[in-house]
Amino acid sequence: MGNASPLTRRRSISSRRKVARPWYGRGMRRAGGDGSGRAVYLVAEHSGYNEGVRIVIPLFLIAASACSPPVSAPAEPKNLVILSIDTLRPDHLGLHGYSRPTSPHLDRFALDSVVFDQAVTVHVATAPAHGTILTGEYPGGHGIQRNGMALKPGIPTLAGILTERGFATGAFVSGWTLQRHTDLDRGFEIYDDDLGPPRNGARREGAQTTAAAVKWLRKQVAAERDFFLFVHLFEPHWPYDPPARDALRFLPGVYELTTVSKPVHLDRLLSVNRLTQAEQQEYVARYDGEIVVADRLADRLFEELEDLGVAHNTVVVVLSDHGETLFEREWTMDHGTRPYDEQARVPLILHVPGDPAAGKHVPDQVSLLDVVPTVFDIFDFESPEGLPGRSLLPLIRGERTEANPRPVFITARAEPQRVPHIKAQLLNRGLVRAIRLPEIKLIEYPVAGRRQQPELFNLIDDPGERDNRAGENIDIVVGLHGELAEWQNATGKAFDPGSQELDPEVEEALRELGYIDD
Ligand SMILES: [Zn+2]
Repeated sequence: MGNASPLTRRRSISSRRKVARPWYGRGMRRAGGDGSGRAVYLVAEHSGYNEGVRIVIPLFLIAASACSPPVSAPAEPKNLVILSIDTLRPDHLGLHGYSRPTSPHLDRFALDSVVFDQAVTVHVATAPAHGTILTGEYPGGHGIQRNGMALKPGIPTLAGILTERGFATGAFVSGWTLQRHTDLDRGFEIYDDDLGPPRNGARREGAQTTAAAVKWLRKQVAAERDFFLFVHLFEPHWPYDPPARDALRFLPGVYELTTVSKPVHLDRLLSVNRLTQAEQQEYVARYDGEIVVADRLADRLFEELEDLGVAHNTVVVVLSDHGETLFEREWTMDHGTRPYDEQARVPLILHVPGDPAAGKHVPDQVSLLDVVPTVFDIFDFESPEGLPGRSLLPLIRGERTEANPRPVFITARAEPQRVPHIKAQLLNRGLVRAIRLPEIKLIEYPVAGRRQQPELFNLIDDPGERDNRAGENIDIVVGLHGELAEWQNATGKAFDPGSQELDPEVEEALRELGYIDD
């Protein structure tokens, strides 16, 4: 409830607005006028969240009525929506070429947005990744290094900074792992983590979460407040139990309705060898059916923005926290412990109304670290100092090429059961760490004797990460290991996931959800 830390307050108050607007001013100039009228141009050049806005807006209104720009004319961005769809693999979306029609609404939305084709998370579990989405820090920086942990004191949050700038800030989450024991409510005016009665492991139906978000949204618009809305949907997360009609559409004809609608009967974690081909198909269909549901709910939010008349000045970011291993590995239907690309890659779609780059696909590697700096750049707010990410706007505009792409560091929690191919003695709950460049990835599993077991993959020739080339490329392994070690040292002891003991109640709840197996 506006409980921003003193550090947050000091930083954001001392931050000042830069002089030139980076997005709309340039966009409009580059477009050479888009028929939306001079009034929009003037606003793009001169208005903002400083005192000036109060002077400029009446001018805009007068000019707008004289020029009669179309209702849909883009205006300066005033509001922000971040929609996080948990466990959503980008390669299961139509906009990334998936063969099944799982995401008709997001596909359409993507046509009017910028799509990042190679977005990567920083941790393959829910709470650490969301800590990054909402602070811009790596998990070692914000403190949530595995599910059940909390933000470090004093870490500035996106919500805290926007609240101080006068935004109405509301979050609506659907899973136990994001409830307020994480301190991710820090800075939000409203943090709705009421999941209702327990159902299939402490989660809320996305329809309910969306309805609560829409109700809140209507109030803010009626009160004429600028807003930051964060919505988290849990649908694609295990146990993959969409309405039967949404899964059945992807199943071969041999399936009966009862096959899909019966309660999930299998253990959460399964060896791929124990499942028949038909069972595997059924589970993928269930997973895809959940994406269909989430896609419909995303559209519900988009429609509401239109209906409330705020779509033209609302920035919308759609992303996920991590992907999911389906049947690529021996251990199936799972995430959190293995930073392979099916878990590490995420969708990232950025919609800025009136963006001349809309429809563009950006091929470069980017990460969830970049979301916060990009948002601050779009709104022309100064970022908190020292964030490891960077604004994606120059990349979108083609002003920067990635001749020397930055690595993304990805972490996970070691669990011997889930990586049976690691023959050395894996340190249970130790830190799995990876360094990913667009063409290559080094993964280091922690094993006995304070050593690391390396896996090196060529992501171009071997995107499925099947062929470990570490043994024949020792020099590359050593070089990337050095970068990993340097990165970890920069964050110091913060990177010991065992350094923060879990509250027993939290640990018990996580065990019930299947996050802790011992
Ligand atoms: Zn998640």
